[in-house]
Amino acid sequence: MEAIKRTKIVDVLKSKAFGTTVNVKGWVRTRRGSKQVNFIALNDGSTIHNVQIVVDVDTWGEEFLKPITTGACINVNGTLVESQGQGQDAEIQAKEIQIYGTADPATYPLQKKGHSFEFLREIAHLRPRTNTFGAIFRIRHHMAIAIHTFFHDRGFFYFHTPVITASDCEGAGQMFQVTTMNLYDLKKDEKGSIDYTNDFFGKQASLTVSGQLEGELAAMALGAIYTFGPTFRAENSNTPRHLAEFWMVEPEVAFNEIAENMQLAEDFIKYCIQWALNNCLDDIRFLNNMIDKELIERLNFVLKQDFIRLSYTEGIKILEEAVANGHTFEFPLFWGADLASEHERYLVENHFKCPVILTDYPKEIKSFYMKQNDDGKTVRAMDVLFPKIGEIIGGSQREEDYDKLSAHAKEMGVPTKDIWWYLDTRRFGTAPHAGFGLGFERLLLFVTGMTNIRDVIPFPRTPNNCEF
Ligand code: ATP
Ligand code: MN
Repeated sequence: MEAIKRTKIVDVLKSKAFGTTVNVKGWVRTRRGSKQVNFIALNDGSTIHNVQIVVDVDTWGEEFLKPITTGACINVNGTLVESQGQGQDAEIQAKEIQIYGTADPATYPLQKKGHSFEFLREIAHLRPRTNTFGAIFRIRHHMAIAIHTFFHDRGFFYFHTPVITASDCEGAGQMFQVTTMNLYDLKKDEKGSIDYTNDFFGKQASLTVSGQLEGELAAMALGAIYTFGPTFRAENSNTPRHLAEFWMVEPEVAFNEIAENMQLAEDFIKYCIQWALNNCLDDIRFLNNMIDKELIERLNFVLKQDFIRLSYTEGIKILEEAVANGHTFEFPLFWGADLASEHERYLVENHFKCPVILTDYPKEIKSFYMKQNDDGKTVRAMDVLFPKIGEIIGGSQREEDYDKLSAHAKEMGVPTKDIWWYLDTRRFGTAPHAGFGLGFERLLLFVTGMTNIRDVIPFPRTPNNCEF
């Protein structure tokens, strides 16, 4: 074959250089046609759109063309011509074809369209080759770039917090332990407790559930930082919104108080959504047509809304009124209860029909580090609640007072000896500060219209699921 520099299909489709010879490489979506002429729809992942390769059957013969089936990978030189068909500008009249790899139709799983998402999860190694997952993973990339751009443009520093940690501050029992000990021969002390002194770190260690505590240390030096990395929760919650391994974005800002924190969260989410519409419209249009007919409408709707700011106490009142008017919830509802997703979604979808930032939660149901309000009952927490998702962001203003922080930690049974370094920030040059955590995959659920979080991360980790 003549060596010609490859052009990505996304560029081929935009090209007006009709008559020139181009090279494309990609995976066959379909081959159809007649005895005289075949049409190959070729996709190389650079765009949701395929380029059409027009093949004169006589030139190659049926035998050569036979293995060019769905899933096969080919290399094509051909003349770029203006397309006769509707909906595409350019197509390629094949001059040379090389088959890189075949995909036997008898065993290649992605034959027909309309496979269920459940089935596609079982072939997660191949599902990026479908239109839907190609679109989702391109959008995922663009959202990551949006996040970095948003913070970078605002003078935040990308700060890397550790994945392995020895402090368990967000509640025990949810963490994955990290050990090099021989599990077949565990040494225990007289009381039957495991002796970690000979373990790799000389103490019990786990995968992080949040980079926040270390993020706060950085904010107290660099002013404004964000983390963006993998996060692990061993909670056995088999829901469409929880993963055992997910990615979290956590900005932390010195001198910000709760109101500025809320504004940052609102601006940030809107920026990401606008970025998606600006940079991923082809993919979003595809998802809008195939998955969720209201997707684009919903994205534009959220951009236009000022998010409602509401206290937990007012939220409970609205929910109790709903119950009085005949609405039923599965989970208990009273002042002091942790809100379930059904409660959050009622506020957002039924009552306000708009994203809601709920603030000032009872201190018992929130983390020890949240700033205590003067009422003695609530803390300056803020959860951003979204249509179809529920909680997308959880954040707070942090308690900057050393005495209040340590007292509250004790009250909540937090082992403060492991986080002496965290408490130190309140001893040396403490300052008001605030931050939040956005679940990256929850944002992706919203932007793609997908309904199961397993479908917006390439290789989901959930209870009993660690294939690929
Ligand atoms: P939820 O109540 O939905 O379980 P959470 O309150 O435990 O979430 P936070 O500790 O506030 O979560 O974490 C911050 C954000 O991280 C959440 O708002 C959510 O977007 C995301 N998140 C939390 N847990 C998970 C998970 N298991 N899988 C995916 N995203 C998660
Ligand atoms: Mn939360």
